[in-house]
Amino acid sequence: MYDTQVIVVGAGPTGLTLGIELARRSIAFRLIDAAEEPSRGSRGKGIQPRTLEVFEDLGIIRAILKAGMPYPRVCLHPGPFSLRLGPLGGRNQATERVPHPNLWLVPQYRTEEILRERLAQLGGQVEFGTAFEGVSQRMRGVQVRLSTGELVTAEYLIGCDGGHSAVRKALGLGLHGETLKRETAFVADVNVDELDHTDWHVWPFAKGGSIGLCPLPDPDHPSLFQMMSPREPVEGIESAIQRVAGCHVSRIAWSSMYRPAVRMVDRLRLDRVFLAGDAAHLHPPTGGQGLNTGVQDAYNLGWKLAHVLRGGPESLLDTYEAERLPVAAAVLGLSKQIYRTRSLKRGETTNQLRLHYRTSALSSGKPLGGLHPGDRMPDVRLADGTRLFEQMRGTHATEFVMREGTRILIRPDGYIASIGKQPVTAFAGEPIHPIDASGTDFDPS
Ligand SMILES: Cc1cc2nc3c(=O)[nH]c(=O)nc-3n(C[C@H](O)[C@H](O)[C@H](O)COP(=O)(O)OP(=O)(O)OC[C@H]3O[C@@H](n4cnc5c(N)ncnc54)[C@H](O)[C@@H]3O)c2cc1C
Repeated sequence: MYDTQVIVVGAGPTGLTLGIELARRSIAFRLIDAAEEPSRGSRGKGIQPRTLEVFEDLGIIRAILKAGMPYPRVCLHPGPFSLRLGPLGGRNQATERVPHPNLWLVPQYRTEEILRERLAQLGGQVEFGTAFEGVSQRMRGVQVRLSTGELVTAEYLIGCDGGHSAVRKALGLGLHGETLKRETAFVADVNVDELDHTDWHVWPFAKGGSIGLCPLPDPDHPSLFQMMSPREPVEGIESAIQRVAGCHVSRIAWSSMYRPAVRMVDRLRLDRVFLAGDAAHLHPPTGGQGLNTGVQDAYNLGWKLAHVLRGGPESLLDTYEAERLPVAAAVLGLSKQIYRTRSLKRGETTNQLRLHYRTSALSSGKPLGGLHPGDRMPDVRLADGTRLFEQMRGTHATEFVMREGTRILIRPDGYIASIGKQPVTAFAGEPIHPIDASGTDFDPS
């Protein structure tokens, strides 16, 4: 007997997403975090279109949209003149297939708060002040040592404990890659009075390196900005901002240092222990990929863990590493390129809508028009006026039956498992929600 089915270490965006995925499938788990209280920093503020779709499925899209705002225009201040550019990623119209086409700005502390609220609705909670200290793997399961002195047994352990991951270290896995800059970069949340809060202000030639001030949506603090700089200003935050912007800093809410790096593990699983999020891959902030990739790791792993814990084949869990390791490598390559070239180009390259699992063992059948097994299923307006994404919301798989009997089986995480005319037998035991696609003008090309 086990004390619980799964132990999730770390309640950042990755661990919280995994907690929700397990809670809504009635899997018993403990979600622990070493910190005494939730983190306050705005850090990962860019939520990509694919993650917005994940959040729609998790039931938090309204709260996320309400808490955030579109990315602001970049306003460069290279000298006495200012130059106004467009917003990162542009402003794209929603389409039937892509309901959330733009990068959405939400401070990470708020995203985490919304995820925690959803977890609480589902009966889950974070155990703050409880650190992972060690693990021993057993024949079938793990025994985990916690800072509370407890020894807890579980069937699986998932390390979502960030860049300094103690779980990763306990497994003896290294983070391979490179640090992009020797000095530590600086980030802070500051209230700056009298500065236009609609633009993302950048002073590229400030003394000691560029200074960026990105407005943050926070109803309690209407003049809040995320300050980013390649190093901590020697003269202090207030003086540096006073000098470049001529504005007064009325509050410093939070500050931190980080070292921009692109690094990742070469395995995401060792027997009954898995890694997800920053514990497995570290990104520079450029391109806004870190939080998004972690959330999607958890979204990929959650339904598979639940399926196996309910008696499904263990081999399903091998597809987590097979699917997510190449994605992490591709996303890291992209973040590094954006960091090196200082490119402001965003949109299709960074929105994560084109990430796919085409070579996965779970993907079968022939392409239909432009749709391949392993691709993200696009949204579709159905004949009864509802959207396919509404019908997909929840923990089930979905079967989309088209004219002439072609069936598209959609996994619980929204990717196409198979396309073909044969009745689907995959995910035996999982509920499959059938949708009649006749009467829609769905065009897979
Ligand atoms: C300035 C900046 C800007 C960024 N901008 C973006 C962006 O626009 N878009 C984007 O996608 N990403 C961005 N990121 C990256 C993003 O913040 C991270 O990728 C994200 O926080 C990773 O989430 P995580 O849950 O995997 O790890 P974390 O958020 O690091 O969470 C790990 C959790 O584990 C806990 N923990 C650690 N050790 C233990 C232990 N031994 N036991 C128990 N708990 C433990 C920690 O307390 C923490 O709560 C940015 C980062 C920075 C610094």
